[in-house]
Amino acid sequence: MHRSISYGASVNGTPLQVILPKDGTVEYLLLAAHHGDEPETTVALSSALRSVPPENLKSAVILVANPDGLMLGTRGNANGVDLNRNFPTSDWGTIPIRYRWTMDSPRDVELSPGSTGGSEPETQALIKLVKEISPKAIITLHAPLDCIDDVNGSELAQWIASHTELPIVRDVGYPTPGSFGTWAKENNQNLITFELGNQSIETSRARFEETLVKLLMADVDCS
Ligand SMILES: [Zn+2]
Repeated sequence: MHRSISYGASVNGTPLQVILPKDGTVEYLLLAAHHGDEPETTVALSSALRSVPPENLKSAVILVANPDGLMLGTRGNANGVDLNRNFPTSDWGTIPIRYRWTMDSPRDVELSPGSTGGSEPETQALIKLVKEISPKAIITLHAPLDCIDDVNGSELAQWIASHTELPIVRDVGYPTPGSFGTWAKENNQNLITFELGNQSIETSRARFEETLVKLLMADVDCS
C-alpha cells in the first residue's frame, strides 16, 4: 500500500489526499483532476501509480485535487470556483471564466475565480503542501489540449514531450489569470502542464502510462 495523508479538506469537507514516497523525499508532485470534469486525468495517473511498487515511488501524487468537483460532476469546486484561476497571483482578477461543458457546446458556463486569489480551501491547502514538500517540479494533468505546456520550456518538459510525442508549448493561447502555473512561476517553482488529448480514457491511459510511471519513480534522465 502506498502511504497517503490528508493535506486539508475541500469546501464540502472531503479530505484532500496526497500519496507520499515511503522514505519522505519528494522528487516531483504529480496531480490530477484539478478540474472536476477531467476524470481521465485521474484514471491515467492512478493506473500508472498502481504499477509502481511503494518502495519505488519517488514523487508525491494527488489523484484528485478537486474532489467536490469530481463528485458533483462540475469543473469548479462546490463554490463554483475554477481552482486553476484561484491562485493569489499578480494577475488574479474578478472576471468570471466562461467555459463549455463539451467540445461542441457554446461557452455559456460561467465559473468564478473566487472572492480573492487563494480564497478556496483546496487552493490554500495545495499551496501549503507545495511549500512543505518543495518538489523539483510540479506536473499537473489536464485535458484535452494534447500538449506539454511549460513557460520555461524546461529540460523536464522536453523530456516529457519527447517520451509522449506531444508538442511542447509556452502558453495555451488564451489568458489564464490566477492559474497554478502563474503562481508557480511567481514563486520560483517549476510547473509543467501535461494536457491529455481529446480521446478515450483507455487510449490516454495506454498512451501515457509509461511516461507517468517514469515520473512517479523519478526514472528521468535529465536534470
Ligand atoms: Zn483542466
